[in-house]
Amino acid sequence: MKEKKMNKEKNIPFTISINFNELTMAFEQSANSTHYFIDLESNKIICIDELKDSDARTKLSQMRNNKRYIKIPQHDIRNEQLVMETFIYEPRDFILVDTLYKTLHRKNGVKLFYQLLESQPHLKEQWLTYRSAALRNEMINWLCNNNIELTSQYLIPTIEIKEITAEEIKLLPDEIKDFKPYACLHCHNEKGMKARIFTINVSPENMLIEQETQRIMKERFGITHHGGWSGGEQEFLTASRCPRCGCEEIFWDY
Ligand SMILES: [Zn+2]
Repeated sequence: MKEKKMNKEKNIPFTISINFNELTMAFEQSANSTHYFIDLESNKIICIDELKDSDARTKLSQMRNNKRYIKIPQHDIRNEQLVMETFIYEPRDFILVDTLYKTLHRKNGVKLFYQLLESQPHLKEQWLTYRSAALRNEMINWLCNNNIELTSQYLIPTIEIKEITAEEIKLLPDEIKDFKPYACLHCHNEKGMKARIFTINVSPENMLIEQETQRIMKERFGITHHGGWSGGEQEFLTASRCPRCGCEEIFWDY
């Protein structure tokens, strides 16, 4: 008991060898009567189905009170609707975006949304890809929040960050070129701040990517605080430092 507490204080992650896709599947298949747990000792996923198991209630209450087990969350209907809410802005076709928005916000919107997808195979395919990426990111965030690491599995691509030279900055679109460090949030100084701009090959879609980006920025460029700027096809990172007090938290503006 004491050792577990120490572990948590030092923030040492639980390391398990369960396959990430199995975890995501359990997340997706969890329902009000079907519960999935991670067994930290045997490194297995355990399923308790209340409809099939007459001892389910007893088992569930025992497992909930035992630190050996961690309950895998449930991807419920509200969750699904949130994913839909962000998906409707994906198509580049404004009329389609409008149709999707109106469909989802009608009575029984989720059901009507599925029906609409059935009539448009290309859109359905787009939705399935989008949904699977969203669920994957949710699962990654859940693992990060619960301090769980999976052994020998690379859940995110290799991150490449490159600083852009002053010459290259001149070639960037105006929207990013004109976005400049304006004032220090600590001492309010407005003088002598220089913008540093970096390209990055991924978008900050989950906490693991954010953590790894922060680590690289610190180790390679000595930066502890950065901002992000999305240029459609290309993602950028921005950073600056106040020459007066050394603070890296700067207010940027046009
Ligand atoms: Zn300052």
